[in-house]
Amino acid sequence: MANKNPLEITDKDEMRNWSRSMRAQGKTIGLVPTMGYLHEGHLSLIQESHKQTHLTVVSIYVNPGQFSPTEDLSAYPSDFLGDIQKLKSVPGGVDVIFRPRNLYDYGNKDDGVGGGVGWDQEGGKVVSCVEKSGMEHETWVRVERLEKGLCGISRPVFFRGVATIVTKLFNIVEPDVAVFGKKDYQQWRIIQRMVRDLDFGIKVIGSELVRDDDGLAKSSRNVRLSPDDRQKALSISKSLFKAKFAAENGQIDCQELRNAVIQAVHEAGGKIDYAEIVDQESLEKLEEIKRPAVFCVAAWFGNVRLIDNIEINV
Ligand code: AMP
Repeated sequence: MANKNPLEITDKDEMRNWSRSMRAQGKTIGLVPTMGYLHEGHLSLIQESHKQTHLTVVSIYVNPGQFSPTEDLSAYPSDFLGDIQKLKSVPGGVDVIFRPRNLYDYGNKDDGVGGGVGWDQEGGKVVSCVEKSGMEHETWVRVERLEKGLCGISRPVFFRGVATIVTKLFNIVEPDVAVFGKKDYQQWRIIQRMVRDLDFGIKVIGSELVRDDDGLAKSSRNVRLSPDDRQKALSISKSLFKAKFAAENGQIDCQELRNAVIQAVHEAGGKIDYAEIVDQESLEKLEEIKRPAVFCVAAWFGNVRLIDNIEINV
């Protein structure tokens, strides 16, 4: 069967109108939010959406609201033509590629990168690239407890930005189902909680983490690793697999398990941001693995920050 040619939509009203007309015809819609530079991890989310709904929308938007001015927004890789080819050839195809230009531009003439009124860190406020640019956006969604630990410690605006952009995409696309990868485990839990707490009528699916054959978690950022750093970065997944094996064979002391992963990553030349074993739902730190846990790691290799995790059910 020939694959569908996806419709490309950049305008948010057009996007919403498309969704409404499809729903009026009794079609259900799945949304797969991405920041582009697509790989098999993203494509697996599309397969998951196909299982759930008639139609699938993939959004491609690098969200300035989740990057702080010191982070890698401008270095974030992009290849829109390559992404389109991948989306055309994914089994079952996709129906719409939603690629908005700037979701924080509300038509105010003063808005724009480099504009004047953004708060800054000097005022004691942690800011994102949206505020730094002076764009007149001031409404943020926060999932107050879940956003604090793990990635939230070194990236204090990140989950506020994620919850806000996902809310905006939900309001524009109006999907029935939204699919997120467990690769970003904390993000998935945060979106699930937000949807529950704010009564969105959307089913959130967590889709399994996809790895390269040698174990490295697939990520758009992997392309920025030197070949040497990519090899060294395997220490993350290798040590996580070992930790899972050890836990399933009776080693339930989290400090011991964490030490082994931290040591392996250090010895490989990486810099640990965090290595924590937490409850799968509440994301609270555990001392012993006696309930469903997830071992989450963030580490730097060169100037690339990688995250990975593994679920442990003893
Ligand atoms: P990103 O483009 O990195 O923002 O990711 C968009 C979506 O793809 C998120 O829900 C991610 O969790 C998911 N994703 C990214 N990498 C993977 C992976 N290796 N396996 C499964 N899902 C992934």
